[in-house]
Amino acid sequence: MSSFFIETYGCQMNTAESDALEALFLGSGWEKAEGQQDCDVAIINTCSVRQSAENRIWGRLGSYTPIKKKKKMTLILTGCMAERLGEDIKKDAPQLDYVVPVNDKLKILEIANSVRDESQIEFVHSQNYDFASSYYKEGEFSSFVPIMNGCNNFCSYCIVPYVRGREVSRDPQQILDEVRFLDSKGVREITLLGQNVNSYSYGDMHFPELLEKVCRQCSNIRWIRFESPHPKDFSDELIEVIAREERVAKHIHVPMQSASTNVLKAMNRRYTGDQYLSLIDKIKTRIPDITFAVDVMVGFPGEREEDFSKTLSAMDRVGYIEAYMYYWNPRKGTRACDMAGQMTEKEKQQRLQVLIDFQLKKAAEVKQKRACGIQEVLCLSPSRDNGNQMLGRNEHNENVVFDIKTPVKPGDMVKVEFLYLNGNTYVGRQV
Ligand code: SF4
Repeated sequence: MSSFFIETYGCQMNTAESDALEALFLGSGWEKAEGQQDCDVAIINTCSVRQSAENRIWGRLGSYTPIKKKKKMTLILTGCMAERLGEDIKKDAPQLDYVVPVNDKLKILEIANSVRDESQIEFVHSQNYDFASSYYKEGEFSSFVPIMNGCNNFCSYCIVPYVRGREVSRDPQQILDEVRFLDSKGVREITLLGQNVNSYSYGDMHFPELLEKVCRQCSNIRWIRFESPHPKDFSDELIEVIAREERVAKHIHVPMQSASTNVLKAMNRRYTGDQYLSLIDKIKTRIPDITFAVDVMVGFPGEREEDFSKTLSAMDRVGYIEAYMYYWNPRKGTRACDMAGQMTEKEKQQRLQVLIDFQLKKAAEVKQKRACGIQEVLCLSPSRDNGNQMLGRNEHNENVVFDIKTPVKPGDMVKVEFLYLNGNTYVGRQV
């Protein structure tokens, strides 16, 4: 039996696509290899969003050279870096056998089969993105469900629209069929995925209606999440569906990037700092127990001290319990690279550190206040330190270690009394 090995980098979309590819390989009689040393075909599913991500992949590519000298194997590069650099990458990485663009990811199985069978395939590049029939990974109780791909927004710092292409939405019937399938498999939590998930649009179906329909398909699935929404597309209808539907997790990710209107304008985010904060207020008013996650970028060209202060005040006002914080790095091919007012690495790092310190303190305060009451928890894994304890996660994506009262296993939903916060993890007991 021939074997395959997939390495995945970057976003949840890449993870979902690798899972779909893995299911296709397993369904076609391939075996999953333990590691890069043991496989006949290795696939690197890449990320281009930051230079550091690409640097890491260059390192991984190098690790295949000695292996390929010792044994016959096929090395395939796919994902955003493959899309961005194309066949040119082979000049610097001659160990690569195939470079497969994003739209053709699912055809990797055909390539692998042709290598195994020593047959020829006529490879026709897809003009459009193809969704897989399912992204389910056997045995998982959390699953991703891609619903759209690509982005039309062209934020001035982002490479995604250039490598993933324009927005394309998946047939809602296919999405609902997949949700029913996941529900029948005992999956407990799904995340609807897209680079700009709430701009989903297929005929007359828009994201709020789709989300409502997805909720109504579920009986085992307890929490439905979605990643990543754009603030400008966050409609009142969507807020109503989140409030009304019990299965939509009351923890949402609303990327802010900056709270300064000047910086947001330079970023081409298409909302002002006030509009962002009004949106958060509106959601909080309608759904008082909601919590938020955020993306924040500091050190963007032209960001002044007062712009940064506005971001810190917004972080203080909203009280995010999760934050993805980073500083701007030039991404070749994006408009921001040529903008005036670029800061030094040291200045950007310092600003980021101030932000991280501030957020850690704020999140601890917010979480501390929430450390009480009985909550529903998804069991993740037995505690490594104590056989009578389990690690779980609540609706708000917060981890809790709790004493078990009845036998439980990963994937079970249980009620846990939250007692106190220890570092970033709650401590509780099953009730
Ligand atoms: S919305 Fe902006 S940051 Fe997000 S993928 Fe699209 S261009 Fe990139």
